[in-house]
Amino acid sequence: MDQRELYRSIPKVDMLLELSEIQDLLLDYDRRLVLEAIRLETEKLRERIAQGMAEEQMLEEVTNLPLSIRRRTEKMADYGMKRVINATGTILHTNLGRAPLGQEQMERLSNLLTGYSNLEYDLEAGERGERCAHFESWICRMTGAESAVAVNNNAAAVLLALTALAKGKEVVISRGEMIEIGGQFRIPDVMEQSGATLREVGTTNRTRLADYEKAVAWNTGAILKVHTSNYKIIGFTQSTPVRELSSIGEKQGVPVIVDLGSGSLLDLSKYGLPHEPTVQETIEEGADLVCFSADKLLGGPQAGIIAGRKKYVAALKKHPMMRALRIDKFTAAALEMTFRAYLREEEACYRIPILNMMTRPITELEQMAWKLKEMLKPLGGQYVIQIEDSMSQMGGGALPEEYFPSKCITFTPKGRTVVEAEQLLRRGSTPVIVRVTEEKLVLDLRTVLKEDFEILGQVLLQSLGGIAL
Ligand SMILES: *Cc1c(COP(=O)(O)O)cnc(C)c1O
Repeated sequence: MDQRELYRSIPKVDMLLELSEIQDLLLDYDRRLVLEAIRLETEKLRERIAQGMAEEQMLEEVTNLPLSIRRRTEKMADYGMKRVINATGTILHTNLGRAPLGQEQMERLSNLLTGYSNLEYDLEAGERGERCAHFESWICRMTGAESAVAVNNNAAAVLLALTALAKGKEVVISRGEMIEIGGQFRIPDVMEQSGATLREVGTTNRTRLADYEKAVAWNTGAILKVHTSNYKIIGFTQSTPVRELSSIGEKQGVPVIVDLGSGSLLDLSKYGLPHEPTVQETIEEGADLVCFSADKLLGGPQAGIIAGRKKYVAALKKHPMMRALRIDKFTAAALEMTFRAYLREEEACYRIPILNMMTRPITELEQMAWKLKEMLKPLGGQYVIQIEDSMSQMGGGALPEEYFPSKCITFTPKGRTVVEAEQLLRRGSTPVIVRVTEEKLVLDLRTVLKEDFEILGQVLLQSLGGIAL
């Protein structure tokens, strides 16, 4: 057969639609989906002919066309967003959705949201209420702030604070804090969008109180301090503490805004981690507004919190941009649950998954590793499986230099490449995301949730070894 004949051997769409296999498919799936699958599969065949596929193989693929159309349709009809098992050892993995929510919290959330709720209704007074009210009181109680509001994320929080308080004015900021957080968040760009003018002071490594004092003038809208969460300058350095900035702010009637980034409520040094400034400390030191993410060290849903003095928070609440940045009812409910869990620290460490992962003892990880290795014996012919020491990290731009000692299981494939093995894991019915080195897959157990661990063994047998149970 020449190439033209090969092309002609691909059945036309109308013909395919009449086949009983495709008719069956149309009973279960929408016609648009089936047509799209037909188009994609026949296009694929045409491409392969153009690439010079052998005639015999080609005819076989034509015979298999109904089956490949079914597979393609099923795949397209499946959900795109799936639960995956995070075995990367990175606790706040932005690509994997940062902080997971707790099981009990989700159950409450599901009950709350499958019905109506008092999202913006004051049940005591019987009148319209504020959607922030439910979590605002918790934030104030936990942090000592007078008032608080939440928006879509921390980038939005900083943008709103600058726009509402400093549009058309200058914002004074240290040259050492002109940072970029991954994903297009750069302080100078956010500043520009807010309509405020950047007034840089000091130098990359040192900025003193006097530098700020010289810069603050009649046209200053705010002093901004940014926590350099994802990098560190070491050596001959100096930065000005919030307490000193707030003394100038107060004297000149200029608000001090602190972008804290991660915004922890716990003193992490108790858990052997470096001390990160907490929200309550920052408020206590005199910051007028503190902005932080709810899905970093706090361990809640994606949101940006702005907490601080009532008069400034009130200005934000009234700003027209607030309406565009406001959070939805899912987030409002999840925020209330998250902050409420912090009422007791042990409870927070138990109920908030990322705190649980951060404080997991190495002995627990070791037990998990042994248990898993035992289950994976049937894979012994295909992989060398070992338990090794590992280092997990926080991720999400938080605690950049900190590593948590961990345990991992490594897989060195015998009959396939590491790349192929990683693909098997990623494309399995429950995808498992791992680290990859040149010769092994590294499955770090610190970030594997308890619920996921229960099925992990079976998932690995199935995906890595094609062993079904
Ligand atoms: C992470 C971070 C942001 C952005 O927060 P998102 O919630 O991801 O929008 C802003 N500033 C700092 C200092 C951060 O660490």
